[in-house]
Amino acid sequence: MAYYCLRCKRVVELKADSQGVRCPYCGYRALKKERPAVLVKKVKAV
Ligand SMILES: [Zn+2]
Repeated sequence: MAYYCLRCKRVVELKADSQGVRCPYCGYRALKKERPAVLVKKVKAV
């Protein structure tokens, strides 16, 4: 399942989707299951 971090907007691949859901990049614990398709169009990838 592909998630994306609500903080750094990075796409995160997680194996466990029940618990321990955390962004490996910034450590934020709020991830969304949807693809940031709209966000990608608005935010420039650095
Ligand atoms: Zn993050």
